[in-house]
Order: sequence, then structure tokens, then C-alpha cells
Amino acid sequence: MDKNELWKNTLAALEVEISKANFAAFFPKTKLISLNQGKAMIACPSSLIAERLTKRYARMIKETLTDLTGKNYHLAFEVRRSYLSSPKPTNLGPLFSHLRDNTGLVPAYTFENFVVGLSNQLAYTAAHSVTDQPGSLHNPLLFYAGVGLGKTHLMHAIGNAFKAKDPKARIRYCPAESFTNEMIEAIQSRRTAAQFRKRFRSIDLLLVDDIQFLAGREATQEEFFNTFNQLYLSGKQIVLTSDHRPWEIRKLEARLVSRFSGGMITDIQPPDLDLRFAILKQKTKERGATLNDKIVLALAEQLVGSIRQLEGALTQLLLLVQTHRETTPEELVNLVIQNNSFHQPSISVSPKAILGEICRQFKTSREELTGPNRSSEVVLPRQAAMYLLRELTSLSLKKVGELLGGRDHSTTLYGIKTIKQRMKADPILHRQVEMIKTSLQ
Ligand code: ADP
Ligand code: MG
Repeated sequence: MDKNELWKNTLAALEVEISKANFAAFFPKTKLISLNQGKAMIACPSSLIAERLTKRYARMIKETLTDLTGKNYHLAFEVRRSYLSSPKPTNLGPLFSHLRDNTGLVPAYTFENFVVGLSNQLAYTAAHSVTDQPGSLHNPLLFYAGVGLGKTHLMHAIGNAFKAKDPKARIRYCPAESFTNEMIEAIQSRRTAAQFRKRFRSIDLLLVDDIQFLAGREATQEEFFNTFNQLYLSGKQIVLTSDHRPWEIRKLEARLVSRFSGGMITDIQPPDLDLRFAILKQKTKERGATLNDKIVLALAEQLVGSIRQLEGALTQLLLLVQTHRETTPEELVNLVIQNNSFHQPSISVSPKAILGEICRQFKTSREELTGPNRSSEVVLPRQAAMYLLRELTSLSLKKVGELLGGRDHSTTLYGIKTIKQRMKADPILHRQVEMIKTSLQ
């Protein structure tokens, strides 16, 4: 990917993560000037900006570059005043071309383009119900998940749906980081502090992203606690996201933990193969490109990380397809997969480990799993084993069937389909299988 293109994509990704004010303050006149031997050199228009980027945004920039290129870079910042006069980076791509209004909402993140699968359906359903019955059903609603799994997207989707229903509603999307920064600036004077309180306490829908950021910040927690209470008591809807459950966030005050846990808490799990495939299909379509299903499946099978990483890989692939017309798409896919291979679990999980874990969790034995018994106590773990063998290894259906006592291809396929349906209907079973998966990875 060309440097400028890469930086444009990096900025587009960062723009969503960072508050509007901060993005506008620090990023517009930056430029990626070189990318050599694991080092990314970024030009900044002033030393103040270079310092801020180093202190506050280096990690985000690094992670985004890694998502987009599949490589790790050290960052170096350089002040180059000549860029002061250069025009702003142009159009940040179709998804981000809409200017954000004062709600902070990104219009491109909607329920319509949020692809639902087993791993995120609970969160999706809860999000939807909050837009239908704000303030009463689940308050606060909190999503927790690892990075790049759709928390921010879902949160904006709630905001956008809310706004469509009631254009006059006062909505505010705010990363916890921005809340902190705004507060620190506001408390400098009594007047601005009062304005700040008024602004946050007269909101109908408050969306606060990444509340783990509040950890250890006492003054912010105090302020946030008061804001929270005021909104909550007047029946306003609050939605929060976090990388962990509230009680797992260290240095978060007990009273906040208890407030945050008082409504609905739902997780988003890493996407399974079906969802990865569906997302890649949709994102390809959104970008006005076409890729055949075999190619999409190959990507979905190999890249087991977050949805953001999937998107990064797709971006790489689409760029390669455009620029390497003489190479076959299959070869390009391999290139992208190699490039992103660090996203896969370090060693792929061994079938033996999967079967062992299934037996342990479902309290059955290898003999039962591979044997002829078709009572439901054995069929369920057997189907779960089929599912996990397909999810976590690159074994074919035929091979999976063989491992489970020589069952044929169609029995295996049926088994996988059945367990997926059961997981969909039974969140506890879904959780149980996911836990086995996580423990294996
Ligand atoms: P998080 O906030 O959990 O780190 P994001 O919401 O920023 O993750 O999601 C990362 C990227 O993946 C975004 O571009 C988002 O649009 C996309 N994404 C996540 N989940 C889905 C989904 N279910 N359907 C479509 N796109 C998704
Ligand atoms: Mg996020």
C-alpha cells in the first residue's frame, strides 16, 4: 500500500476513535513520510503536536498501522513546518466523508450495516431494545468485548436510530477520554465548570465509549458519577462500553462499578467463521468491489482475529487486486494472509486438545464421542466437537467426520448446523462452547 494511501486509511480509522475536537487539533496536518526497516516516520506541523501524538496517541497509531499493514512499526515523529502550508489531507474515504455534528455520531455506523451472528446477537438485540424503550428496559446498557469487535459501531447505531426516531433528541456520543479532557478543561473556571455540567446533565441519550479509561482518575469518576445519577434518575438512557466487565476494571470506584452493573451487561465474542464470511461479503459490497466467494471464504477461514483486522486485510486485498492485475486473486489472498498471519493464534489448536477439552467440559469420554451412542448427552458434545474442529483447525469436513468415529461428510455438516441452531436458541450453551474455544486459544 502506498504511504499516502496508508496514512489516509490510518487517519480514517483514528478519526472514529478519537473525539472530534482532538482529531481536528492534532491530526489534520500530519503526514507519513517514510516507512523503513520497521520504523514509521510521521511529520507533524509543530513540536507541540509531535509531543501530544507521542504521549497520547502513539499506541493507537501503532495499532492502526499494524491492522492495516500486518506489520509492527516503531514510531518516530518529526517537526516539518513546510507541511503547515500544505493542504489538509483530502477526503478520508467514503465511510468518513460525512461531517460529524455536535452529537459526535458517525452516521456510517448503523444497525443496517451491522452484521449479526452468534457472537454478537445478544448485544445487537439489547441495543435494539434500548432504542425502542429508552430509559426503562436496560439502563444502563453496557457492552464489553476485546478491541475491534463492534462495540463502538453498535453504540453509534443506537444513537443514529434514536436520532432518526426523534431528530430533536439531545444525544451525545463521547469516548471516556474526551469526557475526561473536556472536564479537565472545564473545571479551570467556575463558569465553564457549570456549563460543562449543564451540557452533560441535559442529555436524553448518553453514549460513553471505553469507560475503562476512567480507571484511576478520581476527579473524573466523581464527576461522571454525578452526571450518571442525574441522568439515570430522570429516566434518560445511558449506554456504556468497556473492554472488561465493570468489576474487572481495576481502579474503578466501587460506587461506579455498582452503577454500571445495575442494568444490562452483554458481551460480544470474537466472530465465528460464518460471521467473518458474512462481514467480509458485506464490506466488499459496501466498497463497491466484487470478490468471488472462494476468495472471501479463504480470507475468513484464515483470519481469526477481530473485525477491525478483517477489515484491514480486506483493504489490503482490494488494493492489491487493483494494483496487481497480472497476479491471480488466489495468490494475492495468500499474500494478505501471510502478511496478517500474526493475527492467528500462535500455534493452531490441535484436534486432540479440542477433543480433550470437550470431554472435560461436557463430562464425556473419547470413546463416547467416537462411538455409536446417539443419546442426547453424547450427541451434543459430539456436535460441539465437530463445530470447534471446523472453527479452530483447517481440517476438512471429511477429516472432522473421520476423527469422530468415521462419520460421513453430510452427518458432520448436519451436526455443525444443528449445534449452531442450538447455540442461537440457547445462550448458555453458546457461552459454554465459546468458553471452551477461548480456553483453547
Ligand atoms: P470496538 O469498538 O469494539 O473496538 P468497532 O466498533 O470500532 O470495535 O469495530 C471495528 C470495525 O469493525 C468497525 O469498522 C466496524 O464497523 C466493524 N464492525 C464490527 N462489528 C461489525 C459487524 N457486526 N458488522 C459490520 N461491521 C462491523
Ligand atoms: Mg471502540
